[in-house]
Amino acid sequence: MVALSTKDELKALATQAGEELDGASALEILRWADDQFGPAWAVASSMADAVVPSLAAQVRPGVDILFLDTGYHFAETLGTRDAVAATLPVTVRSITPRQSVAEQDASFGARLYERNPDQCCALRKVMPLRNALADYVAWASGLRRDEAITRAGAKVVEWDEQRGMVKLNPIAAWTQDDVDAYIAANGVLVNPLLSDGYGSVGCWPCTRRIAPGEDARAGRWSGTQKVECGLH
Ligand code: SF4
Repeated sequence: MVALSTKDELKALATQAGEELDGASALEILRWADDQFGPAWAVASSMADAVVPSLAAQVRPGVDILFLDTGYHFAETLGTRDAVAATLPVTVRSITPRQSVAEQDASFGARLYERNPDQCCALRKVMPLRNALADYVAWASGLRRDEAITRAGAKVVEWDEQRGMVKLNPIAAWTQDDVDAYIAANGVLVNPLLSDGYGSVGCWPCTRRIAPGEDARAGRWSGTQKVECGLH
């Protein structure tokens, strides 16, 4: 584990690793992170599937898995979270917003997600994750380049300017076929919503089933210009 001091040093390390590890396997990328940061890295998971948690657990058993418990999740997603906690050698941390849904309704009015989804995501996802990540030097997610145009340029290791920390995208280069093959070969847990017409897993007010041929993320904030919650 290297001694890391300034943000500039960390940024340089992340930028260099992003180039050098391009083409490395997901496990190699996570092992690099573990060598660099010891226990000071975590995985953020939407609980669409347990691919990255299962990879991370192979590198560091007991690794922290952060789940943003917005108060608006489908029961299937909460069930997937609980199944991941029960079956994988990981530590699932459910991260809750400062306000409950009822408290947010009292402060901002009901169904903020309809009127101002950016503010709702900021309150229920972006700020809670920012607070939770203060405990770590690096964080990983299952972001993939082929998921959306906004993700096409993602590096396997990069500098998260917004949070001033290292971001790991160990499966950035994977395709959906790669994900499906890994799940099948390793018996990885998958959210049942994905076999029930949903292409992507999010909060129930902002997620709908997709039609055949539609992009997997087309069901997120459908009918609006919004494509990201602000986490990536
Ligand atoms: Fe709110 Fe929708 Fe964002 Fe969930 S996805 S935090 S309900 S706006």
